[in-house]
Amino acid sequence: MTISGSIMAQESGPITKMDEAFDHHKEQFILSLWKVNPAWASTVGYHKYDSVLIVPNAASRMQEEAFCKAQLAKLKTFQLANLRPENVIDYKLIENQLQYQLFCIHELKSFEWDPSSYNICGLFADMLNNDYEPLDKRLHNLGIRLKRVAPYYAAAKANLKNPTQEHTQLAIDQHMGGISVFTDDLKAMLDKSTLKEAERKQIQASASIAVKAINDYVSFLKTMKNPQPRSFRLGNALYEKKFAFEIMSQYSANEIYQKANAHKLELHQKMYELAEQLWPKYMEPKPMPTEKMEVIRRMIERLSEEHTTPSKFQNEIEAQIPTLVKFIQHKDLIFIDPEKPLVVRKEPAYMAGVAGASISAPGPYDANGNTYYNVGSLENWPAEQAESYLREYNKYILQILNIHEAIPGHYTQLVYANRSPSIIKSILGNNAMIEGWAVYTERMMLEQGYDIVLDFERTTASPEMWLMYYKWNLRSTCNAILDYDVHAKGMKKDEAMHLLVDEAFQQKAEAEGKWKRVSVTQVQLSCYFTGFTEIYELREKAKMQQANNFQLKEFHEKFLSYGSAPVKYIKQMMEIK
Ligand code: ZN
Ligand code: ZN
Repeated sequence: MTISGSIMAQESGPITKMDEAFDHHKEQFILSLWKVNPAWASTVGYHKYDSVLIVPNAASRMQEEAFCKAQLAKLKTFQLANLRPENVIDYKLIENQLQYQLFCIHELKSFEWDPSSYNICGLFADMLNNDYEPLDKRLHNLGIRLKRVAPYYAAAKANLKNPTQEHTQLAIDQHMGGISVFTDDLKAMLDKSTLKEAERKQIQASASIAVKAINDYVSFLKTMKNPQPRSFRLGNALYEKKFAFEIMSQYSANEIYQKANAHKLELHQKMYELAEQLWPKYMEPKPMPTEKMEVIRRMIERLSEEHTTPSKFQNEIEAQIPTLVKFIQHKDLIFIDPEKPLVVRKEPAYMAGVAGASISAPGPYDANGNTYYNVGSLENWPAEQAESYLREYNKYILQILNIHEAIPGHYTQLVYANRSPSIIKSILGNNAMIEGWAVYTERMMLEQGYDIVLDFERTTASPEMWLMYYKWNLRSTCNAILDYDVHAKGMKKDEAMHLLVDEAFQQKAEAEGKWKRVSVTQVQLSCYFTGFTEIYELREKAKMQQANNFQLKEFHEKFLSYGSAPVKYIKQMMEIK
């Protein structure tokens, strides 16, 4: 199997003296980034500062600010014109990250209004449960880090001004749920360790103080006087800025909002045409409702009945992987490296709880780690819950899930990103591009005729598949609309429920969950639609520009060769206008 030229050649160009200097600079930058952010370092698998916990007070913010300004000044000594494309993108990612951190300190200021931004439970849970170093060593570091927990929460209390009610409640719930890390979980690990008795007692004593600090923080949040809590809505100006830093799109948040609304209407129209077409086949002699949205809803409900059983769920997903590969090879859509097959890992039944499927990839400091496709089991679920889940992940949507998570979605993108490993991109990689790619491949596969039954003669998917896909796509589209409407335009809950339930055909429980999510996050819900839109537009432009010379495979491989970079920079590198 040969790798097509576009990947091997990449747009690397000659490596200049400045590139060499910049490569060195990147390493230094990351090392100093970890020094200022030891907790972040721990979560990506860099464990040198595991015993450090930064107390989030004004002094540490000043230190962070000084770090950002010094690093921005250093960055300016490199000229973009003298760097190879992958370094240009790394430069932009570093610059964006530093400016984002300054924005967080000076403008966003969530340290004043988001009590849930202080939470060390997960950090300590990882040290207890992840086996990256011998247990005794992890516990030793944990013991030192524990001593900073009380000053950490004292600083948190001092920082908070008029927190939002939603983030206050979230912080209360998360801390009450997380406290067992410092009691039962820690005790169990101390019992297993071979640390000296004196050190174990020391750690226990520090843990008691930490537990007290956390309980104290919770009761502080429950009883604090907050007559005019800040709204959880970010407001238009801050939302636009946060969107620009996190998504790094060529479009503003408002432009994406306009596009998402137009796309929603287009989807409704297409869905109605398909539902009308399918009605006789599935619903007759029942008369077709006069209300368009009702016709769509009834057809979606009917097709959702076609689903697998809890006991077949894992096998069904596993069996689809080779089918996807066969289809992609036959249609020549993208090179799939046979040396890097996807390892499907069935979660044993006792781990059940998280169903569905997800990719777990090794972190940037774990080069030899395996990548797995985790497939959850439904075997021990209550019947009603399993039925509702399977209706959602019916036989159509299950295919789309595999495309998105595995091949040619997240897993394939990851394999390509690893060909030109960049520590910067693995740490500061662009989430809108990563999610956008996975969402883009869903549609691309259907355009090529991928369906529930493998059939190479198909030139497009069946009406059933398209209808269900559009419902799925409506979800990420409405996520983006909801995010902007709520944060930039002040949308109320009942309007949000109307959007999700009546216009996106979601179940009430799902819509309630989404409302909760949008009230404690900002921008995150928009990354899927934004990335998808930018990639799809880029492909259509490339088609126009290259006319008869356009090849889908070449486009895909070249697009992915730049790693997890913002789409707007890939667009520049590919010279698509
Ligand atoms: Zn059923
Ligand atoms: Zn995804």
